Parts: sequence; structure tokens; C-alpha cells
Amino acid sequence: MASRKPLIAGNWKMNLNHLEAIALVQKIAFALPAKYFDKVDVTVIPPFTDIRSVQTVVDGDKLLLTYGAQDLSAQDSGAYTGEISGAFLAKLGCTFVVVGHSERRTMHAETDDVVLAKTKAALKHGLTPIVCIGEGLDIREAGEHVDYNVTQLKGSLAGLSAEEIGNVVIAYEPVWAIGTGRVASAEDAQEVCGAIRKTLAEIADAATADSVRVLYGGSVNAKNVGEIVGQTDVDGALVGGASLKSDEFASLSAIA
Ligand code: PEP
Repeated sequence: MASRKPLIAGNWKMNLNHLEAIALVQKIAFALPAKYFDKVDVTVIPPFTDIRSVQTVVDGDKLLLTYGAQDLSAQDSGAYTGEISGAFLAKLGCTFVVVGHSERRTMHAETDDVVLAKTKAALKHGLTPIVCIGEGLDIREAGEHVDYNVTQLKGSLAGLSAEEIGNVVIAYEPVWAIGTGRVASAEDAQEVCGAIRKTLAEIADAATADSVRVLYGGSVNAKNVGEIVGQTDVDGALVGGASLKSDEFASLSAIA
């Protein structure tokens, strides 16, 4: 089995201006000594308007922390008012970009086709897409969550080569667990993350599936991260609320 380095990604959502962003990154860096980065990759995902400031701190202080963006355009440039291109994000030194977060799928009607186009754009510009999938409560209660996630995964990666799939991160984020304080059990997270890896083996190949990092997201905090990330097919966490608290985010990164 490939050894997959855990990844902890802090999705700040629409929180913190650029000055607050600088302060948070400095506090996280202070709380998370360099030695931890041998064992875990840690990234912060601020709003677009903070990225340049985060870049300045990360570069200036030679931090091992990486950073990324919460979304990107499927287009490279042109008459797309309000959009941000993957080329711009790459130029700013972003490593990751979140694609298909449930808040984008729900509030901005992003379909699997849109998510696929954005995933391709990210790969084209050398960014690592963190492709999010996850079921709503109704699907979970109907017991259809595994099939639902497999379908969303296949749609979001349709037609990508094994090599391309090898360059993505998948985040399983049950919608009912995001921002609710209701975390999935470790077994629930493993069930879907295991099905994701099995599906990756089918649509790419076994070696690729073995190498891709599959994260869990949904009300992760310093108390519950250890058990969840301890599951065979869970390789880290996408963290929302808890990523805005420097001590909590540093301590959950250290545990993972
Ligand atoms: C998220 O926004 O991706 C998320 C998982 O949020 P929270 O950790 O707050 O549930």
C-alpha cells in the first residue's frame, strides 16, 4: 500500500479580511513547529482577497504551510466578470484549490459537469484540486449514500486519465455534517472513503487509487480528528469552523 501523507486543509470560507488572515497564519505557524510537517501537510484556504497577503507571510517567513483557493473559473481569461482563473491562482503560489464544495453546488448550482470543468482547469494550471462530494441528510437516511457519492465522484472526474486522477485530492463531506457540529462516525467516514478508493481503482487503476488522498470533512475538531483520520481510507480532513481558531487548527493538524 502506498504511504499517503495526511493532509489537513483549513477552509476559511468567507471569513477574515487580509489583515486578520496574516494574523491567523502567523499564529498557526507559531503553534505548529516545522517538525510536524514531516508527518502532515497543512494548508489554509482563505478567501481570494487574502491570498496575496498569505503568500507574503508564507514566503517571507519561509513557512512550510501551503495555501490555496476556495474556487476557480473553468476559463483561463476573458469576459467572465467576477471570476478568478487558475492561472492567477498558480501565479500567486497556490498549491490547492477546492472544487465543488457543497456550498457551491447548492448556492451556485454547480453540477458535476461544472465541477469536472473546474477540476480540469485546476490541473491544467498545476494546481491540486480538492474535489468535494457528499450526500444530504435525505440520501443518508434513505441508505443511498454510498451509491450517491460514487455517482458524484464519477461525474466529477469523468474522462480524466489515471495520471490526472493521481493529481487530485478527494474530500468526502456529508452535507449534514458541515457546520452543524454533527460529525460522521469514524465508521461512516471509512465506509464512504473506502468506496471512493474502490471507485478510483475502477476509473483509474489500483496504484493510482492507492496514492490519492481522500479526506473527510464535516465538523472536524481537535477532539474527533484522531479517530477519523485513523481510518484506513481517510487521509486527512477538510476543516471549516475549527480552521479559524489557530490553537485548535494547529492541534488537530498535529494529531493527524
Ligand atoms: C467545510 O466547510 O468544508 C467544513 C467541513 O466545515 P465545518 O468543519 O465547519 O463543518
